[in-house]
Amino acid sequence: MQLDSPLVYPSQLVVLKGHMEKLINIGGDKGSCLGDSCGSGVRGEGASNLPGVYIKTFGCQMNEYDSDKLYQILSESYAPVESPEEAKLILVNTCSVREKPEHKLFSLLGKLRPLKEDGDGVLIGVGGCVAQQEGKNIVRRSDVVDFVFGTHNLSVVPSLIDQRRAGADPQVAIDYRDDWEDLPLGVPGTGRTSVFVSISRGCNKNCTYCIVPRTRGPEVSRPLEEILREVRISVHRGAKEIVLLGQTVNSWGLDLAPRKKFVELLEEVAQVDGVERIRFTSPHPQEVRKDFYDLVAENPKVCRHIHMPLQSGSDTILKAMNRNYRKKRFLDIIVGLKERVPDIAITTDIIVGFPGETEEDFEETLDVMRQVEFESSYSFMFSARPETVAADLPDQVPLEIKQRRLQELQSLQNELTERALASWIGKEVEILLDGFTKADPTKLQGRTSQNLLVHLNREEVTLGPGMIVQAKILEASKFTLRGEYCSGQ
Ligand code: SF4
Repeated sequence: MQLDSPLVYPSQLVVLKGHMEKLINIGGDKGSCLGDSCGSGVRGEGASNLPGVYIKTFGCQMNEYDSDKLYQILSESYAPVESPEEAKLILVNTCSVREKPEHKLFSLLGKLRPLKEDGDGVLIGVGGCVAQQEGKNIVRRSDVVDFVFGTHNLSVVPSLIDQRRAGADPQVAIDYRDDWEDLPLGVPGTGRTSVFVSISRGCNKNCTYCIVPRTRGPEVSRPLEEILREVRISVHRGAKEIVLLGQTVNSWGLDLAPRKKFVELLEEVAQVDGVERIRFTSPHPQEVRKDFYDLVAENPKVCRHIHMPLQSGSDTILKAMNRNYRKKRFLDIIVGLKERVPDIAITTDIIVGFPGETEEDFEETLDVMRQVEFESSYSFMFSARPETVAADLPDQVPLEIKQRRLQELQSLQNELTERALASWIGKEVEILLDGFTKADPTKLQGRTSQNLLVHLNREEVTLGPGMIVQAKILEASKFTLRGEYCSGQ
Protein backbone atom coordinates (compact mmCIF):
# COMPACT_ATOMS: atom_id res chain seq x y z
CA MET A 1 0.00 0.00 0.00
CA GLN A 2 1.06 3.55 -0.42
CA LEU A 3 0.00 7.05 0.24
CA ASP A 4 -0.01 9.84 -2.18
CA SER A 5 2.90 11.65 -1.18
CA PRO A 6 6.33 11.64 0.17
CA LEU A 7 7.34 8.07 -0.01
CA VAL A 8 6.35 7.34 -3.48
CA TYR A 9 9.10 8.54 -5.69
CA PRO A 10 10.20 6.32 -8.53
CA SER A 11 13.63 4.98 -8.07
CA GLN A 12 14.74 5.69 -11.60
CA LEU A 13 14.11 9.27 -12.49
CA VAL A 14 13.30 11.34 -9.57
CA VAL A 15 15.44 13.76 -7.72
CA LEU A 16 14.69 12.88 -4.18
CA LYS A 17 16.11 9.43 -4.14
CA GLY A 18 19.66 10.70 -4.02
CA HIS A 19 18.68 13.08 -1.30
CA MET A 20 17.03 10.29 0.66
CA GLU A 21 20.21 8.32 0.70
CA LYS A 22 22.20 11.17 2.13
CA LEU A 23 22.93 11.86 5.73
CA ILE A 24 19.94 10.44 7.42
CA ASN A 25 19.24 7.04 6.08
CA ILE A 26 22.56 5.67 7.11
CA GLY A 27 22.00 1.99 6.72
CA GLY A 28 18.69 2.74 5.03
CA ASP A 29 16.08 0.21 4.08
CA LYS A 30 18.76 -1.78 2.36
CA GLY A 31 19.60 -3.64 5.53
CA SER A 32 20.64 -2.65 8.95
CA CYS A 33 24.22 -2.02 9.79
CA LEU A 34 24.19 -4.38 12.70
CA GLY A 35 26.27 -7.20 11.33
CA ASP A 36 29.76 -8.19 12.32
CA SER A 37 31.35 -6.06 9.66
CA CYS A 38 29.96 -2.87 11.09
CA GLY A 39 30.51 -0.80 14.13
CA SER A 40 34.08 0.17 13.55
CA GLY A 41 33.69 3.59 15.18
CA VAL A 42 34.36 4.50 18.78
CA ARG A 43 31.43 3.21 20.76
CA GLY A 44 29.18 5.89 22.13
CA GLU A 45 31.02 8.89 20.83
CA GLY A 46 30.22 11.16 17.88
CA ALA A 47 32.62 13.31 15.87
CA SER A 48 32.63 16.17 18.38
CA ASN A 49 33.23 14.12 21.54
CA LEU A 50 29.54 14.30 22.25
CA PRO A 51 27.85 10.94 22.65
CA GLY A 52 26.64 9.51 19.35
CA VAL A 53 23.09 9.41 18.00
CA TYR A 54 22.07 7.04 15.25
CA ILE A 55 18.69 7.42 13.54
CA LYS A 56 17.30 4.61 11.45
CA THR A 57 14.71 6.11 9.13
CA PHE A 58 12.09 4.08 7.32
CA GLY A 59 9.61 5.33 4.77
CA CYS A 60 8.81 8.63 3.22
CA GLN A 61 10.32 12.06 2.79
CA MET A 62 8.22 13.27 5.69
CA ASN A 63 10.09 10.83 7.91
CA GLU A 64 13.40 11.95 6.40
CA TYR A 65 12.45 15.50 7.23
CA ASP A 66 11.47 14.56 10.77
CA SER A 67 14.76 12.72 11.27
CA ASP A 68 16.60 15.84 10.17
CA LYS A 69 14.69 17.80 12.78
CA LEU A 70 15.59 15.22 15.41
CA TYR A 71 19.28 15.55 14.61
CA GLN A 72 18.93 19.29 15.05
CA ILE A 73 16.92 19.06 18.25
CA LEU A 74 19.56 16.76 19.72
CA SER A 75 22.58 18.53 18.31
CA GLU A 76 23.64 20.16 21.58
CA SER A 77 23.85 16.83 23.34
CA TYR A 78 24.55 14.25 20.64
CA ALA A 79 26.56 13.99 17.42
CA PRO A 80 25.43 11.84 14.48
CA VAL A 81 27.23 8.53 14.04
CA GLU A 82 27.11 6.06 11.20
CA SER A 83 26.10 2.87 12.94
CA PRO A 84 24.06 1.85 15.98
CA GLU A 85 27.17 0.28 17.47
CA GLU A 86 28.73 3.73 17.79
CA ALA A 87 25.67 5.30 19.38
CA LYS A 88 24.57 6.07 22.91
CA LEU A 89 21.17 7.02 21.60
CA ILE A 90 19.40 5.02 18.88
CA LEU A 91 16.18 6.30 17.37
CA VAL A 92 14.01 4.29 14.99
CA ASN A 93 11.75 6.46 12.84
CA THR A 94 9.10 4.03 11.65
CA CYS A 95 6.72 3.87 8.71
CA SER A 96 3.38 2.06 8.64
CA VAL A 97 2.97 2.14 4.91
CA ARG A 98 5.29 -0.61 3.82
CA GLU A 99 4.48 -4.24 4.40
CA LYS A 100 4.77 -5.70 7.87
CA PRO A 101 5.92 -2.48 9.55
CA GLU A 102 5.64 -3.86 13.06
CA HIS A 103 7.49 -7.00 12.16
CA LYS A 104 10.25 -4.83 10.74
CA LEU A 105 10.38 -2.73 13.90
CA PHE A 106 10.47 -5.61 16.37
CA SER A 107 12.98 -7.52 14.33
CA LEU A 108 15.24 -4.45 14.34
CA LEU A 109 14.73 -4.04 18.08
CA GLY A 110 15.78 -7.67 18.51
CA LYS A 111 19.01 -6.94 16.67
CA LEU A 112 19.61 -3.90 18.84
CA ARG A 113 19.12 -5.87 22.05
CA PRO A 114 22.81 -6.86 22.48
CA LEU A 115 23.81 -3.18 22.35
CA LYS A 116 21.31 -2.43 25.06
CA GLU A 117 22.33 -5.37 27.18
CA ASP A 118 26.03 -4.67 27.34
CA GLY A 119 25.37 -2.17 30.13
CA ASP A 120 26.81 0.84 28.36
CA GLY A 121 23.76 3.04 28.94
CA VAL A 122 22.42 2.98 25.42
CA LEU A 123 18.92 4.41 25.07
CA ILE A 124 16.51 3.35 22.34
CA GLY A 125 13.55 5.48 21.21
CA VAL A 126 10.88 4.62 18.66
CA GLY A 127 9.09 7.33 16.69
CA GLY A 128 7.13 7.77 13.46
CA CYS A 129 3.86 6.32 12.27
CA VAL A 130 4.07 2.90 13.96
CA ALA A 131 4.87 4.65 17.23
CA GLN A 132 1.91 6.95 16.77
CA GLN A 133 -0.37 4.00 16.13
CA GLU A 134 0.94 1.57 18.70
CA GLY A 135 2.06 3.88 21.53
CA LYS A 136 2.30 1.96 24.80
CA ASN A 137 2.04 -1.42 23.05
CA ILE A 138 5.60 -0.93 21.87
CA VAL A 139 7.05 -0.65 25.38
CA ARG A 140 4.82 -3.51 26.49
CA ARG A 141 6.10 -5.76 23.73
CA SER A 142 9.76 -4.82 23.86
CA ASP A 143 11.73 -4.13 26.99
CA VAL A 144 14.61 -2.61 25.05
CA VAL A 145 12.56 0.49 24.22
CA ASP A 146 13.13 3.43 26.55
CA PHE A 147 10.67 5.83 24.98
CA VAL A 148 8.11 6.16 22.23
CA PHE A 149 7.31 9.45 20.51
CA GLY A 150 4.60 10.21 17.97
CA THR A 151 4.71 12.12 14.72
CA HIS A 152 3.79 15.38 16.52
CA ASN A 153 6.12 14.94 19.47
CA LEU A 154 9.63 15.46 18.14
CA SER A 155 10.30 18.45 20.32
CA VAL A 156 9.74 16.51 23.55
CA VAL A 157 12.35 13.86 22.73
CA PRO A 158 15.07 15.56 24.85
CA SER A 159 12.81 15.55 27.89
CA LEU A 160 11.87 11.89 27.31
CA ILE A 161 15.58 11.11 27.26
CA ASP A 162 16.18 13.10 30.44
CA GLN A 163 13.34 11.42 32.27
CA ARG A 164 14.48 7.99 31.26
CA ARG A 165 18.09 8.71 32.19
CA ALA A 166 16.82 9.94 35.55
CA GLY A 167 15.33 6.50 36.17
CA ALA A 168 11.68 6.97 35.13
CA ASP A 169 9.72 4.14 33.53
CA PRO A 170 9.72 3.91 29.74
CA GLN A 171 8.11 7.08 28.38
CA VAL A 172 5.35 7.43 25.80
CA ALA A 173 4.37 10.72 24.11
CA ILE A 174 1.95 10.40 21.23
CA ASP A 175 -0.48 13.33 21.53
CA TYR A 176 -1.45 15.24 18.45
CA ARG A 177 -0.07 18.67 19.15
CA ASP A 178 1.18 21.50 17.03
CA ASP A 179 4.88 21.55 17.85
CA TRP A 180 6.06 23.29 14.70
CA GLU A 181 7.03 26.38 16.63
CA ASP A 182 9.20 24.29 18.91
CA LEU A 183 11.14 22.72 16.06
CA PRO A 184 14.39 24.13 14.72
CA LEU A 185 14.21 25.72 11.28
CA GLY A 186 16.16 24.56 8.24
CA VAL A 187 18.23 21.43 7.85
CA PRO A 188 21.34 20.66 9.87
CA GLY A 189 24.70 21.71 8.49
CA THR A 190 25.30 23.35 5.15
CA GLY A 191 25.90 22.35 1.59
CA ARG A 192 22.76 20.50 0.58
CA THR A 193 21.60 21.49 -2.87
CA SER A 194 18.04 20.36 -2.37
CA VAL A 195 16.16 20.51 0.93
CA PHE A 196 12.73 19.51 2.12
CA VAL A 197 10.44 22.01 3.78
CA SER A 198 7.29 20.65 5.36
CA ILE A 199 4.26 22.84 4.65
CA SER A 200 1.48 20.76 6.15
CA ARG A 201 0.85 17.74 8.28
CA GLY A 202 -1.77 15.05 8.24
CA CYS A 203 -4.48 14.35 5.71
CA ASN A 204 -8.25 14.73 5.47
CA LYS A 205 -8.80 12.54 2.46
CA ASN A 206 -9.35 9.13 4.05
CA CYS A 207 -8.45 6.91 1.13
CA THR A 208 -9.68 3.47 2.13
CA TYR A 209 -6.26 1.78 1.86
CA CYS A 210 -4.28 4.38 3.77
CA ILE A 211 -3.35 4.63 7.43
CA VAL A 212 -1.89 8.15 7.26
CA PRO A 213 -4.97 10.03 8.46
CA ARG A 214 -4.71 7.93 11.63
CA THR A 215 -0.97 8.18 12.11
CA ARG A 216 -0.45 11.79 11.08
CA GLY A 217 -3.85 13.15 12.11
CA PRO A 218 -6.06 15.68 10.35
CA GLU A 219 -4.49 18.09 7.92
CA VAL A 220 -2.94 21.20 9.42
CA SER A 221 -1.24 23.84 7.27
CA ARG A 222 1.92 25.44 8.49
CA PRO A 223 1.72 29.23 8.62
CA LEU A 224 3.17 31.01 5.58
CA GLU A 225 5.68 33.10 7.50
CA GLU A 226 7.12 30.07 9.22
CA ILE A 227 7.56 28.26 5.92
CA LEU A 228 9.29 31.28 4.44
CA ARG A 229 11.62 31.54 7.43
CA GLU A 230 12.67 27.94 6.93
CA VAL A 231 13.16 28.52 3.21
CA ARG A 232 15.36 31.59 3.90
CA ILE A 233 17.48 29.68 6.39
CA SER A 234 17.86 26.75 4.00
CA VAL A 235 18.98 29.05 1.19
CA HIS A 236 21.37 30.81 3.52
CA ARG A 237 22.92 27.41 4.25
CA GLY A 238 23.42 26.72 0.56
CA ALA A 239 20.21 25.16 -0.75
CA LYS A 240 19.25 26.01 -4.30
CA GLU A 241 16.18 23.84 -4.58
CA ILE A 242 13.27 23.75 -2.13
CA VAL A 243 11.04 20.69 -2.07
CA LEU A 244 7.75 21.46 -0.37
CA LEU A 245 6.31 18.48 1.48
CA GLY A 246 2.75 17.65 2.40
CA GLN A 247 0.55 14.57 2.24
CA THR A 248 -1.70 16.45 -0.15
CA VAL A 249 0.64 19.34 -0.69
CA ASN A 250 -1.67 21.45 -2.84
CA SER A 251 -4.41 21.65 -0.25
CA TRP A 252 -2.08 23.80 1.82
CA GLY A 253 -3.78 26.93 3.11
CA LEU A 254 -7.39 25.77 2.93
CA ASP A 255 -7.55 25.56 6.73
CA LEU A 256 -5.73 28.83 7.41
CA ALA A 257 -7.53 32.01 8.37
CA PRO A 258 -7.66 33.86 6.10
CA ARG A 259 -7.72 30.98 3.63
CA LYS A 260 -4.75 30.78 1.30
CA LYS A 261 -3.99 29.03 -1.97
CA PHE A 262 -1.10 26.72 -2.73
CA VAL A 263 -0.17 28.81 -5.79
CA GLU A 264 0.23 31.85 -3.53
CA LEU A 265 2.69 29.91 -1.44
CA LEU A 266 4.65 28.87 -4.54
CA GLU A 267 4.83 32.50 -5.62
CA GLU A 268 6.04 33.61 -2.21
CA VAL A 269 8.72 30.92 -2.06
CA ALA A 270 9.85 31.81 -5.58
CA GLN A 271 10.45 35.37 -4.41
CA VAL A 272 12.92 34.37 -1.72
CA ASP A 273 16.38 35.45 -2.81
CA GLY A 274 18.56 32.48 -3.65
CA VAL A 275 15.76 30.01 -4.41
CA GLU A 276 16.50 28.69 -7.88
CA ARG A 277 14.03 25.84 -8.09
CA ILE A 278 10.86 24.74 -6.34
CA ARG A 279 9.44 21.24 -6.31
CA PHE A 280 6.58 19.83 -4.29
CA THR A 281 5.19 16.43 -3.45
CA SER A 282 2.50 15.27 -3.81
CA PRO A 283 -0.43 17.17 -5.25
CA HIS A 284 -3.89 15.59 -5.10
CA PRO A 285 -5.95 15.76 -8.30
CA GLN A 286 -8.94 17.15 -6.41
CA GLU A 287 -7.07 20.35 -5.61
CA VAL A 288 -5.46 21.06 -9.00
CA ARG A 289 -6.92 24.23 -10.56
CA LYS A 290 -6.26 26.27 -13.68
CA ASP A 291 -4.25 28.86 -11.75
CA PHE A 292 -1.81 26.05 -11.02
CA TYR A 293 -1.26 25.39 -14.76
CA ASP A 294 -0.64 29.10 -15.27
CA LEU A 295 1.86 29.29 -12.46
CA VAL A 296 3.89 26.32 -13.67
CA ALA A 297 3.85 27.80 -17.18
CA GLU A 298 4.85 31.28 -16.12
CA ASN A 299 7.13 30.95 -13.13
CA PRO A 300 10.53 29.65 -14.24
CA LYS A 301 11.47 28.65 -10.70
CA VAL A 302 8.63 26.14 -10.43
CA CYS A 303 9.94 22.91 -11.91
CA ARG A 304 8.36 21.36 -14.96
CA HIS A 305 7.51 18.17 -13.16
CA ILE A 306 4.44 16.99 -11.34
CA HIS A 307 4.21 13.76 -9.41
CA MET A 308 0.46 13.23 -9.19
CA PRO A 309 -0.84 9.90 -7.86
CA LEU A 310 -3.29 8.14 -10.13
CA GLN A 311 -3.65 4.94 -8.04
CA SER A 312 -6.12 3.43 -10.53
CA GLY A 313 -7.57 4.25 -13.93
CA SER A 314 -10.87 2.56 -13.16
CA ASP A 315 -13.73 4.69 -11.86
CA THR A 316 -15.09 1.72 -9.93
CA ILE A 317 -11.80 1.21 -8.12
CA LEU A 318 -11.23 4.92 -7.57
CA LYS A 319 -14.62 5.03 -5.90
CA ALA A 320 -13.79 2.01 -3.74
CA MET A 321 -10.52 3.69 -2.81
CA ASN A 322 -12.46 6.84 -1.85
CA ARG A 323 -10.35 8.80 -4.32
CA ASN A 324 -12.65 11.67 -5.08
CA TYR A 325 -11.78 12.11 -8.78
CA ARG A 326 -12.42 9.90 -11.73
CA LYS A 327 -10.41 8.85 -14.78
CA LYS A 328 -11.75 11.70 -16.92
CA ARG A 329 -10.89 14.33 -14.34
CA PHE A 330 -7.34 12.99 -14.04
CA LEU A 331 -6.88 12.98 -17.81
CA ASP A 332 -8.38 16.47 -18.12
CA ILE A 333 -5.79 17.79 -15.66
CA ILE A 334 -2.99 16.24 -17.69
CA VAL A 335 -4.32 17.69 -20.94
CA GLY A 336 -4.65 21.12 -19.33
CA LEU A 337 -1.13 20.96 -17.94
CA LYS A 338 0.42 19.76 -21.17
CA GLU A 339 -1.35 22.49 -23.13
CA ARG A 340 0.15 25.18 -20.92
CA VAL A 341 3.49 23.44 -20.25
CA PRO A 342 4.33 21.14 -23.17
CA ASP A 343 7.65 20.01 -21.72
CA ILE A 344 6.25 19.03 -18.31
CA ALA A 345 7.15 15.58 -16.98
CA ILE A 346 4.36 13.64 -15.31
CA THR A 347 5.05 10.85 -12.84
CA THR A 348 2.64 8.94 -10.69
CA ASP A 349 1.82 6.18 -8.18
CA ILE A 350 -0.33 3.20 -8.99
CA ILE A 351 -1.76 0.36 -6.92
CA VAL A 352 -2.62 -2.88 -8.68
CA GLY A 353 -4.90 -5.58 -7.31
CA PHE A 354 -7.04 -3.39 -5.07
CA PRO A 355 -9.96 -5.52 -3.76
CA GLY A 356 -12.49 -6.07 -6.52
CA GLU A 357 -10.14 -5.02 -9.34
CA THR A 358 -11.15 -6.92 -12.48
CA GLU A 359 -9.17 -7.36 -15.70
CA GLU A 360 -11.27 -4.55 -17.19
CA ASP A 361 -10.43 -2.26 -14.27
CA PHE A 362 -6.76 -3.05 -14.70
CA GLU A 363 -7.01 -2.32 -18.44
CA GLU A 364 -8.39 1.12 -17.56
CA THR A 365 -5.22 1.79 -15.59
CA LEU A 366 -3.02 0.73 -18.51
CA ASP A 367 -5.15 2.93 -20.76
CA VAL A 368 -4.43 5.99 -18.61
CA MET A 369 -0.73 5.13 -18.65
CA ARG A 370 -0.70 4.99 -22.44
CA GLN A 371 -2.64 8.23 -22.77
CA VAL A 372 -0.56 10.19 -20.28
CA GLU A 373 2.78 8.57 -21.14
CA PHE A 374 4.09 8.91 -17.60
CA GLU A 375 7.83 9.50 -17.46
CA SER A 376 7.90 7.06 -14.59
CA SER A 377 5.62 5.53 -12.03
CA TYR A 378 5.94 3.99 -8.65
CA SER A 379 3.76 0.91 -8.54
CA PHE A 380 2.71 -1.47 -5.79
CA MET A 381 0.58 -4.52 -5.35
CA PHE A 382 -2.22 -3.77 -2.93
CA SER A 383 -1.50 -5.13 0.49
CA ALA A 384 -3.99 -4.70 3.29
CA ARG A 385 -3.09 -2.53 6.24
CA PRO A 386 -4.77 -3.33 9.54
CA GLU A 387 -7.37 -0.82 10.63
CA THR A 388 -8.03 0.46 7.12
CA VAL A 389 -11.38 0.07 5.37
CA ALA A 390 -9.79 -1.72 2.42
CA ALA A 391 -8.39 -4.46 4.63
CA ASP A 392 -11.90 -5.77 5.20
CA LEU A 393 -13.26 -5.36 1.68
CA PRO A 394 -14.50 -8.50 -0.08
CA ASP A 395 -13.00 -9.76 -3.35
CA GLN A 396 -9.36 -9.56 -2.37
CA VAL A 397 -7.31 -10.26 -5.49
CA PRO A 398 -5.12 -13.38 -5.38
CA LEU A 399 -1.40 -12.79 -5.11
CA GLU A 400 -0.48 -14.38 -8.44
CA ILE A 401 -2.92 -12.09 -10.28
CA LYS A 402 -1.53 -9.06 -8.52
CA GLN A 403 2.00 -10.13 -9.40
CA ARG A 404 1.14 -10.63 -13.06
CA ARG A 405 -0.60 -7.26 -13.28
CA LEU A 406 2.29 -5.50 -11.60
CA GLN A 407 4.74 -7.07 -14.02
CA GLU A 408 2.63 -6.07 -17.00
CA LEU A 409 2.27 -2.54 -15.72
CA GLN A 410 5.97 -2.17 -15.04
CA SER A 411 6.98 -3.45 -18.43
CA LEU A 412 4.64 -0.90 -20.05
CA GLN A 413 6.19 1.76 -17.81
CA ASN A 414 9.69 0.76 -18.87
CA GLU A 415 8.73 1.29 -22.51
CA LEU A 416 7.21 4.68 -21.72
CA THR A 417 10.26 5.71 -19.71
CA GLU A 418 12.70 4.69 -22.43
CA ARG A 419 10.69 6.57 -25.04
CA ALA A 420 10.47 9.66 -22.82
CA LEU A 421 14.21 9.69 -22.16
CA ALA A 422 15.11 9.12 -25.81
CA SER A 423 13.07 12.19 -26.76
CA TRP A 424 15.65 14.38 -24.98
CA ILE A 425 18.59 13.32 -27.14
CA GLY A 426 20.06 16.31 -28.99
CA LYS A 427 18.31 18.88 -26.77
CA GLU A 428 20.00 21.41 -24.54
CA VAL A 429 18.80 21.36 -20.93
CA GLU A 430 19.44 23.24 -17.73
CA ILE A 431 20.81 21.08 -14.92
CA LEU A 432 21.15 21.74 -11.23
CA LEU A 433 24.26 19.79 -10.26
CA ASP A 434 23.64 17.79 -7.12
CA GLY A 435 26.59 15.46 -6.73
CA PHE A 436 28.78 12.89 -8.39
CA THR A 437 27.89 9.68 -10.22
CA LYS A 438 28.09 6.44 -8.29
CA ALA A 439 30.06 4.68 -10.98
CA ASP A 440 32.69 7.40 -11.23
CA PRO A 441 32.91 9.85 -8.35
CA THR A 442 34.87 12.33 -10.46
CA LYS A 443 31.91 12.81 -12.77
CA LEU A 444 29.11 15.20 -11.96
CA GLN A 445 25.42 14.56 -12.11
CA GLY A 446 22.39 16.76 -11.87
CA ARG A 447 18.70 17.07 -12.53
CA THR A 448 16.73 18.85 -15.16
CA SER A 449 13.64 20.83 -14.29
CA GLN A 450 11.70 17.70 -15.32
CA ASN A 451 13.62 15.81 -12.66
CA LEU A 452 15.54 13.72 -15.14
CA LEU A 453 18.91 12.53 -13.92
CA VAL A 454 21.76 13.59 -16.19
CA HIS A 455 25.34 12.35 -15.94
CA LEU A 456 27.86 14.73 -17.39
CA ASN A 457 30.29 12.89 -19.59
CA ARG A 458 33.49 14.61 -18.59
CA GLU A 459 35.06 16.22 -15.62
CA GLU A 460 34.74 19.96 -15.30
CA VAL A 461 37.02 20.88 -12.47
CA THR A 462 35.47 24.30 -12.08
CA LEU A 463 32.02 22.85 -11.55
CA GLY A 464 30.46 21.41 -8.42
CA PRO A 465 27.19 20.58 -6.70
CA GLY A 466 24.83 23.53 -6.38
CA MET A 467 25.74 25.05 -9.75
CA ILE A 468 23.27 25.42 -12.58
CA VAL A 469 24.68 24.60 -16.02
CA GLN A 470 23.53 24.02 -19.56
CA ALA A 471 24.19 20.60 -21.09
CA LYS A 472 23.44 18.92 -24.38
CA ILE A 473 21.91 15.46 -24.09
CA LEU A 474 23.92 12.93 -26.06
CA GLU A 475 22.52 9.61 -25.00
CA ALA A 476 19.71 7.98 -23.04
CA SER A 477 20.11 4.78 -21.08
CA LYS A 478 17.32 2.92 -19.37
CA PHE A 479 16.87 5.34 -16.51
CA THR A 480 19.32 8.20 -17.01
CA LEU A 481 20.57 10.66 -19.57
CA ARG A 482 24.17 11.39 -20.48
CA GLY A 483 25.00 14.94 -21.38
CA GLU A 484 27.83 17.18 -22.41
CA TYR A 485 28.53 20.36 -20.50
CA CYS A 486 27.83 23.44 -22.61
CA SER A 487 27.93 26.52 -20.42
CA GLY A 488 27.08 28.18 -17.14
CA GLN A 489 27.92 27.74 -13.48
S1 SF4 B 1 -5.44 9.31 2.81
FE1 SF4 B 1 -4.24 11.14 2.34
S2 SF4 B 1 -2.10 10.51 2.54
FE2 SF4 B 1 -3.33 8.63 2.38
S3 SF4 B 1 -3.31 8.14 0.17
FE3 SF4 B 1 -5.17 9.34 0.58
S4 SF4 B 1 -4.56 11.44 0.11
FE4 SF4 B 1 -2.67 10.27 0.36
